[in-house]
Amino acid sequence: MSVLSRLGLDGELSGAWSNGGAMSTNGELLESYNPATGELLGTVRMAGVEEYESIVANAQAAFKKWRMVPAPKRGEIIRQAGEALRRHKDDLGALVTMEMGKILSEGLGEVQESIDMADLAVGMSRQLCGQTMHSERPGHRMYEQWHPLGIVGIITAFNFPNAVWAWNAMVAAIAGDTMIWKPSLKTPLTAIATHKIIDEVFTANGHPGVMNLIIGADATVGETMIHDRRLPLISATGSTRMGRHVGTVVAQRLGRSLLELGGNNAIIVEKDADLGIAVPGIVFGACGTSGQRCTSTRRIYLHEDIADSVIDKLVSVYKTITIGNPLDGGILMGPLIDEDAVKMYESALETIQAQGGEILVGGERLDGPGHFVKPTLVRAHDGMDIVKHETFAPILYVFTYSDLEDAIARQNDVDQGLSSAIFTNSFRASETFLSHMGSDCGIANVNIGTSGAEIGGAFGGEKETGGGREAGSDAWKAYMRRQTNTLNWSTDLPLAQGVRFDV
Ligand code: NAD
Repeated sequence: MSVLSRLGLDGELSGAWSNGGAMSTNGELLESYNPATGELLGTVRMAGVEEYESIVANAQAAFKKWRMVPAPKRGEIIRQAGEALRRHKDDLGALVTMEMGKILSEGLGEVQESIDMADLAVGMSRQLCGQTMHSERPGHRMYEQWHPLGIVGIITAFNFPNAVWAWNAMVAAIAGDTMIWKPSLKTPLTAIATHKIIDEVFTANGHPGVMNLIIGADATVGETMIHDRRLPLISATGSTRMGRHVGTVVAQRLGRSLLELGGNNAIIVEKDADLGIAVPGIVFGACGTSGQRCTSTRRIYLHEDIADSVIDKLVSVYKTITIGNPLDGGILMGPLIDEDAVKMYESALETIQAQGGEILVGGERLDGPGHFVKPTLVRAHDGMDIVKHETFAPILYVFTYSDLEDAIARQNDVDQGLSSAIFTNSFRASETFLSHMGSDCGIANVNIGTSGAEIGGAFGGEKETGGGREAGSDAWKAYMRRQTNTLNWSTDLPLAQGVRFDV
């Protein structure tokens, strides 16, 4: 039996899943292809606004029941969801690889991240803590508490077709919210398989309608969802172009948005850096996931004393990167997601040359049925406009510097603010980088690269990366509403700030 059959993905699939099963849909047929082989993996009959309306009704009804379940009991169901993911990890990880193109180790790692999110959310379900404060009035008590929000709309990007959902869904679920997931149309099968595994757990526990999935066009389903006042929170992960639009629409209805958008991440390598870890850190950051992570390393700033030797090392490592079917052992780089992505890579290379960049290694696509390109290293200069933009491909720009503060300023001089790193053995350099004068990104690392964050911390970035925070720490607060309560246990009614109103 194939991975697809084991995950129940045979035949034409529905694009709408709610209340414990598939709904009938009659939209356009969406085909999902393996980007490494060109093989058709499956087909999905997309959903439209009619199915969306039914799903909202289901999610509203489910919310009334789900919010009454004590948070730690909600956590128990998420614990079971994590167990279900563990049971299906191998198949789901392989499916991520087949549909998205990341290497198998990363496909499995992505599902592990979702399992970790479930484990984290179980603990969180007992720690949704508000604060207590001292009232200025005698015989009064003040505290704040956190309540569920309602229906959360979850919009996800293609590059983490399983984990981005989990960052949101695991936390939203323990918070008491119900949700509607609108995944990328580039990875619908992973979304359906993931939804089915989790929804089975919720349905078996008597809570169908908490998890809902809709696969439909951005112009119809996507637009309806972001305009919908019945969804108090839209959590959207994807490009800055998409986030600017979604953020504006949601703000116009005074809803909440949680935006996780594009990055333009840099690594600074000081002259005292341990190159034995800096070089692999750079290569994983730039070539891992074929440069298709929001946290992929796009720029490096090398101290001039070590620049030539680091560049030589990178050029020789780049020549050894194995490119091929990401399911095969020994492969380090799979394909880009589709032909459009390859065209974007090729057009970026033309722009790089037009703007005076020097391609040191790579810079071409590979022939064959899949969407393969070579990882590319470019000697760049600050006058090149293209280095300010995120090209979602394995292209790394190399700069040199002599003064750390100048390197930090240049690293920060882009519109995005997601991830950043420094390699150094100097306490002073690392503290400068981490200080308020240092990196302006949501993530700043020392002696590890820009990608591969752990879920225990809050994940997200500043500036055009959108400002959202997901996963660990207190990121759960985005999925709940805060209420401040003042209770009077005295026999008087004193007013705050000494105001008198004697009647
Ligand atoms: P994309 O912006 O093309 O699409 C993302 C999602 O938005 C998809 O589900 C898409 O269907 C949806 N969408 C687009 N227009 C919409 C609309 N009008 N209404 C509702 N939904 C709409 O992004 P992509 O190509 O799938 O992903 C790559 C991008 O995502 C990169 O920029 C990457 O940096 C970013 N990303 C960011 C993070 C993060 O946490 N910061 C994580 C992963 C990916």
